[in-house]
Amino acid sequence: MTGTNDTAVNGVAVLGATGSIGLSTLDVIARHPGRFRVVALSAHRQVDALWEQVIAFEPVYAAMADPDAAADLERRVRERGLATRVLAGPDGLETIARAPEADTVMAAIVGAAGLISTLAAVREGKRVLLANKEPLVMAGGLVMRTAAESGATLLPIDSEHNAVFQCLPPARAAGLDGAGVERILLTASGGPFLRRGPETLASVTPDEACAHPNWAMGRKISVDSATMMNKGLEVIEACWLFDAAPEKIEVVVHPQSIVHSLVRYVDGSVLAELGHADMRTPIAHALSWPDRVDAGVPPLDLTALAGLEFEPPDTGRFPALRIALAAARAGGTAGAVMNAANEVAVERFLDRRLGFPAIAGVIEATLGEAAVDGDADSLEGILAADRAARERAAIHAERMAETCTQ
Ligand code: NAD
Ligand code: MG
Repeated sequence: MTGTNDTAVNGVAVLGATGSIGLSTLDVIARHPGRFRVVALSAHRQVDALWEQVIAFEPVYAAMADPDAAADLERRVRERGLATRVLAGPDGLETIARAPEADTVMAAIVGAAGLISTLAAVREGKRVLLANKEPLVMAGGLVMRTAAESGATLLPIDSEHNAVFQCLPPARAAGLDGAGVERILLTASGGPFLRRGPETLASVTPDEACAHPNWAMGRKISVDSATMMNKGLEVIEACWLFDAAPEKIEVVVHPQSIVHSLVRYVDGSVLAELGHADMRTPIAHALSWPDRVDAGVPPLDLTALAGLEFEPPDTGRFPALRIALAAARAGGTAGAVMNAANEVAVERFLDRRLGFPAIAGVIEATLGEAAVDGDADSLEGILAADRAARERAAIHAERMAETCTQ
């Protein structure tokens, strides 16, 4: 595997290659052909996009979650005489995640759909680059325990967590307290509706919600940013990644997204990571860690910044954040239930079947009636909680759709 003196090429599998994180990952990799080699690519059903990537990178494997799309890709690969092995469905994703050619797996599928493949890569002891935050929210205990058993290296891609990772001491055998960490401060942009009157939110459209002021991202995470559920998911993600109690984590709204997060120590020192709002920075950091490589991101000119603002989050205006913080404290399967309800509600909002304010309503109603002390350490228990929550959330969403106007 990679190390500072190891010149072997690092084989990288990119799960979710056609998405926003996937494209940024391939952009960084293409800048360093002698250092990284794309050995596997996957996508849901965007066959044209994946086909272009297959031509460009000629990976050992290419997987499409959708079987019809996989058949289409297979035909194109054969006609062109490429050696790429085409795989289909969830098994194909798992094969890629465990492939011997892959030293590193970029987990960049969106949502719970990435859980099984992420877990497979962790179980196989890979270097796993975690963009896909939902598996940690659903099954953080299981993912972290599996990593400890397999020796997998988990490196955070989420910009806040990557920043915290960079600001913490590398070895923390005595935990955060032993390292003198007083607080982890997660910054939040506040999304596109930070300054909008709450009474105006009933009529917002999917395109308005997805128009993030600082980051260009997939539609699901963009809506999560608009509700600030994204920050709630990130608090739970941080608890697992850094073995932190929820009380140790504080959310700070920072509309400019230049300071990506901070760590405050007991002696009063505060360490921060700053940079442009460009995911190629955390991706390059994790791909090459502990080395550094060019990410293609221009240098940050501090003198060109208009100013950096910080303010506390308003959980009255953003109920999803309040709900998520309560779920973080509840533990157990609360994360899985909340994540499932959020995925159902966001999908319906994007399909214009649910109003924006009802997203938080669906999540709260689903969490309110779920038994959240279930078995959060077994995959079966988590998947059962996920399934049950999706059913209940769909019922709540139907009911709330009737009372909402768009
Ligand atoms: P995206 O929607 O742009 O891309 C998602 C990718 O996953 C695509 O390649 C798609 O084909 C694939 N996919 C979708 N559904 C699938 C399914 N059912 N089975 C298999 N593959 C499927 O999403 P994104 O913005 O790149 O985000 C990916 C993950 O990274 C999310 O979990 C998100 O929260 C996280 N993340 C993204 C950003 C960002 O800047 N985009 C930042 C931090 C974290
Ligand atoms: Mg983030």
